Amino acid sequence: MSVNEQMYAYGASKSSIREIAAYGNARKAEIGADKVFDFSLGNPSIPAPDAVRKSIERLATMPATKLHSYTPANGLPEVRRTLADSLCRRYAKECEPVYGTDPIARPDDLYLTAGAAASIVISLHALTNPGDEVIVITPYFPEYRVWIETAGCVCVEVPADPATFEVDHAALESAITPRTAAVIINTPNNPVGVVYSRLNLAGTAAVLEKRSHEFGHPIYLLSDEPYRELAYGAEVPWVPAVYPATVVCYSYSKSLSLPGERIGWVLVPPTNPEHDRIVPAIAGAGRALGFVCAPALFQRVIADCVDVPSDLAAYERNREALTDGLSELGYEFIQPQGAFYLWVKALEPDANAFFERCRALELLPVPSDSFGCTGWVRVGYCVSHETIVGSMGAWKRLAEQYR
Ligand code: PLP
Repeated sequence: MSVNEQMYAYGASKSSIREIAAYGNARKAEIGADKVFDFSLGNPSIPAPDAVRKSIERLATMPATKLHSYTPANGLPEVRRTLADSLCRRYAKECEPVYGTDPIARPDDLYLTAGAAASIVISLHALTNPGDEVIVITPYFPEYRVWIETAGCVCVEVPADPATFEVDHAALESAITPRTAAVIINTPNNPVGVVYSRLNLAGTAAVLEKRSHEFGHPIYLLSDEPYRELAYGAEVPWVPAVYPATVVCYSYSKSLSLPGERIGWVLVPPTNPEHDRIVPAIAGAGRALGFVCAPALFQRVIADCVDVPSDLAAYERNREALTDGLSELGYEFIQPQGAFYLWVKALEPDANAFFERCRALELLPVPSDSFGCTGWVRVGYCVSHETIVGSMGAWKRLAEQYR
């Protein structure tokens, strides 16, 4: 009993995505980077926009004691003001028919964090009590389970609609119990690449409203949105406009290609019926978990870059090359509308066995078992265009093995 057994287990069992990436790096060192087609990680391949560099250069001229000092636990007020104003500019119109003209985000509704990971951990601790259930939609980002269990809750998996990979409303409704505290959704979605339609979100909202009413407490929607800006033409609805009891978890890891800088936020929209209790609970969870004062330099950088668009051209080009190439070879996949992942049907029922055949040809996708379901692989296309083009011969040989 010298260490915490739960934490030991999380640390000792490596994430299989990271294991595949580590294998990919070792293999590249062995046989050459151009011969290994590593599609495992969700690490953006496009550089941060120039505006980020310019902002850092400008900020570097600030007095060091000011620049590097602690900020308030929830972040600099002027930064939260800038972010709230930007959210109002972008989404107030969408909310107006439902909520009128009140601001949809105010500075004190935002809590700045070290990325979406911290945002979700804080929100789970703020919204749940030990023993509660939190629903995830399978396939799902594997860290959700770790974060839910660490909050003392039970992770309940609800399979997505098998045809569309959006939320299956009947399955969701039957999984909700009096202990259900929250449902995590992620759109645009990792690992499938779908964007939930307004209609599908409205169906989810209807189920949650019905069950909240039946059980006499709100069931929260935790909207995990690191890929919000990465959509290829599809509408990404503002979730609080559809379901008021939402908490939004956002990050700049993908939108500004800043995953290593650890910066994001939690928003408790003013429309959330429990807003006045959730805001202090978020602050309390941040305090209890040590997630206070998000990186100060990057708080200022995101305020400087608040309306800088994400550069999607490279991902769009990769998406096209990958989907065109694989469909020509006869692979089945879900047409990706957002994020930078392609969800490809494995050519045999066992995705791990299929992965071993991929690996033998130096192709490194991630088997779907890592995301809680069987029979698929995730191909991350946030890689160089050369990797996509160069991999096509191997995908062809792989398909031929199954003919
Ligand atoms: N949620 C999803 C669905 C992700 O894919 C990721 C990162 O890949 C995260 C959360 C964590 O993002 P962050 O780097 O902002 O902590």
